[in-house]
Amino acid sequence: MQNTLKKFLRLTEKLLRDESQKPVADFIPSEDLFSTLDLNLSEDPMDEQEFDLALENLLLKTPRTATTGFFNQLFGGRNPKAVLGDLLAVMLNNSMYTYKAAGAQIGVEKVILRKVCTMLGWDNEAEGTFAPGGSMTNYMAMVMARDNFDAAIKSKGVKESLIVYTSKESHYSIPKNASFSGIGRDQVQYIPTDQYGRMDLEKLAQAIKADIAKGRNPMMINLTAGTTVLGAFDAIEPVVKLAKAHNIWVHVDGAYCGSVMFSNRYRSLIQGIEEVDSFSFNAHKMLGTPLSCSIIVTRDKKHLHQSFSNNASYLYQTDHDEFNLGKMSLQCGRRNDALKFWTLWKSVGTKGLEKIVDHQFDLAQVARDYISSNPDYTLYSYPDSISVCFNYRDVPARALCTGLYEAQELLVGYGSFGQNEFVRFVTINAQNDAQVIRDFFKTLEKYTEKNYDKLMAQCGPVEV
Ligand SMILES: *Cc1c(COP(=O)(O)O)cnc(C)c1O
Repeated sequence: MQNTLKKFLRLTEKLLRDESQKPVADFIPSEDLFSTLDLNLSEDPMDEQEFDLALENLLLKTPRTATTGFFNQLFGGRNPKAVLGDLLAVMLNNSMYTYKAAGAQIGVEKVILRKVCTMLGWDNEAEGTFAPGGSMTNYMAMVMARDNFDAAIKSKGVKESLIVYTSKESHYSIPKNASFSGIGRDQVQYIPTDQYGRMDLEKLAQAIKADIAKGRNPMMINLTAGTTVLGAFDAIEPVVKLAKAHNIWVHVDGAYCGSVMFSNRYRSLIQGIEEVDSFSFNAHKMLGTPLSCSIIVTRDKKHLHQSFSNNASYLYQTDHDEFNLGKMSLQCGRRNDALKFWTLWKSVGTKGLEKIVDHQFDLAQVARDYISSNPDYTLYSYPDSISVCFNYRDVPARALCTGLYEAQELLVGYGSFGQNEFVRFVTINAQNDAQVIRDFFKTLEKYTEKNYDKLMAQCGPVEV
């Protein structure tokens, strides 16, 4: 093991050195992947030196998500304290289902969940768990909402028409989860948004009324705290009132920006959160832990037990259920995703988490200021969002993003809202400073200058 750790250090030091010189890894067209890298598996063991070389090559040729060149997704950066926690979780290799198997690590997870619940204004009846990603925490919310509507569904299956409301701008896991949970994709009602990308509450109220009149059963409203494209926040308070009148479960999908709960400046964006039934967020997005670190909490732990516990005498042999977390989780064997969040939180404190969140909004403001002061840019997104959506000159966004990627300049993606397609620049890497943001625009401008004709020739739609 000692040698392996030394090897790990050697490899990662090399990677860090290379990253500092080349924020974007070499572009390998997918059709050339298997001829460029030695990825084949063979019958015979490999010579150790050759193995090291193959590994190093693979490492250096992999897209870089922690550098000043990566703005493509809703995560990025490499927080040292969180990385340390995750590396240690691999070394410990516990499974989080029982106290017997995970011991002290159960405490790590419980402390985080308790603190999150308290910060949301919830009492000791509230509880939560970690799941592999925001899609899965949304899934857990939907299953709890379904079983809350009728607990018999667990054994009998879905017999009625259950309706889920979500905005047109919400995450695609909602219809997927409707299919997984037996509710059905066609039972998802997509509510239009206002110009800021927030759910239109009048349309929501109308839809609920119309469904009731048709004899359908409104079961769940999914609100988004940080929509995937614009980073918009659906209003929570008025929706909770509406939902209470009809006994509908309210979930807030905060995978992207739910971490505003840690910021005094931005917490008002999720005002009313203390009244919802469930809430989820990804610490691997705004808080910058390694993937994945997804939390779901519910105001009443009975829902987690009702939907996810199964008796298994071979597993739950000791200790009180309160410490056997497997009774509230989606999986059986479960990775320790809590430790990386704990090492981060423990070291920087809640105030440090707040700083991380606030800094991302500050960087987004730097980007919007830059855009607003330059007439060659058009801005499509709004304040209180860390997704900065824009177009530069008349260059089609997808041609620009693809060009920057293939030229190994920048990794950034595009999105659309209404009739407009635009570049979506996400200032989620809290390790960046204002200069990195300004450099981003300079690189993009220089690239456009040099490749303008080529970019404009690609005006036709490219299927992705
Ligand atoms: C990222 C995201 C998800 C999905 O989270 P994963 O961890 O990628 O599964 C769900 N909802 C929203 C709003 C997101 O931004």
